[in-house]
Order: sequence, then C-alpha cells, then structure tokens
Amino acid sequence: MRIRKCANCGAYTLKESCTRCGGATFRVRPAKFSPEDRYGKYRRMMKAQETSV
Ligand SMILES: [Zn+2]
Repeated sequence: MRIRKCANCGAYTLKESCTRCGGATFRVRPAKFSPEDRYGKYRRMMKAQETSV
C-alpha cells in the first residue's frame, strides 16, 4: 500500500498530486505514528471549531 496524503487539504490519495485540490502529497506511514500527534490533531480540530463559530 502506498497511501499518500495531501499537505494542503489533508485528503488521502494514491497519487503524487491531490485529486481534490492538486496540492503536493507525502507518504503516510500508518505503522509508525505517535499517540501524541493523534491527540494534537483532535486538539487542533476543536480549536478550529471554536474559531470558526
Ligand atoms: Zn488536497
């Protein structure tokens, strides 16, 4: 599996350029990810919701 993720909109794709926005994508390593980063993602999501309201 060669999953890639768009650095611009965060969409997952198999191509080197995003199919949604055409942005550059980078390789995603599903096996090695830190739990801290996962929580940071949720924290950023919550913060984004607060600012958007
Ligand atoms: Zn994109």
